[in-house]
Amino acid sequence: MSKEKSIQDILESATEEGRTNLTEFESKQILRACEIPTTKTELVNSKLEAIRAARTIKYPVVAKITSPDILHKSDIDGVRVGLASEIEVRHAFDDVMASAKAQFPDADIWGVTIQEFIPQEKEVIIGVTQDPSFGPTIIFGLGGIWVETLEDVSFRLPPISIEEAEKMIEEINGYPILAGARGGKPADIETLADIIQKIGDLVMEYEQISEIDLNPVFAQKEGEGATAVDARIMLKDTKDDSEED
Ligand code: ADP
Ligand code: MG
Repeated sequence: MSKEKSIQDILESATEEGRTNLTEFESKQILRACEIPTTKTELVNSKLEAIRAARTIKYPVVAKITSPDILHKSDIDGVRVGLASEIEVRHAFDDVMASAKAQFPDADIWGVTIQEFIPQEKEVIIGVTQDPSFGPTIIFGLGGIWVETLEDVSFRLPPISIEEAEKMIEEINGYPILAGARGGKPADIETLADIIQKIGDLVMEYEQISEIDLNPVFAQKEGEGATAVDARIMLKDTKDDSEED
């Protein structure tokens, strides 16, 4: 499937269904089409399929509830990480389905994703927000408490070059953590810059996209890559007043 086709198809079917948010599953398909590194991910609808997927992906795996109506999956206990056996995958499937149904009885539940488990090294966020005056704006920061409590982030207007993406990374106060302060190993900054640049190109090419939230991206050591372990793409609300049906 060509890059154009797969991304356009996903955006169109969401729009046809009147949705402005893509699931993590769809968002990761778009990342893959853009060659942005993300987890191997399969969407399953039964415990048997979940076990098959886990075997293909290889243990350990992660299981997550998948619904366009559930944006914050761990808030409803919809994420299970580090599943190492068939028994654990079975239980995780039942548990995340049960908690979603209990807390969001009306949600449209697509199933559960089984994903590759990525070891956590350094955690960052990469995204696109809408600035009231400038429009789409790329955002980069360290993940977890760094972004939530310290607002240690950098911004750029897309599109940007790799060099500019590297500057965005160097600009944050927490940069020494990524660069390997106090004898720590440096993170794979080259791959992070590549992801930032590609996210900028993606939002420039598809103007239906309003926001992107790769939260978190796990960065491994220099030369070992980085992976978007969660992804959420939001679309512009294109509904106009003229009802078409
Ligand atoms: P939420 O919708 O709540 O943001 P996430 O998909 O971000 O859910 O998952 C919650 C947390 O679980 C992440 O912040 C990360 O620490 C961990 N996690 C999620 N996916 C993976 C994965 N594939 N490998 C390893 N850890 C993961
Ligand atoms: Mg997340």
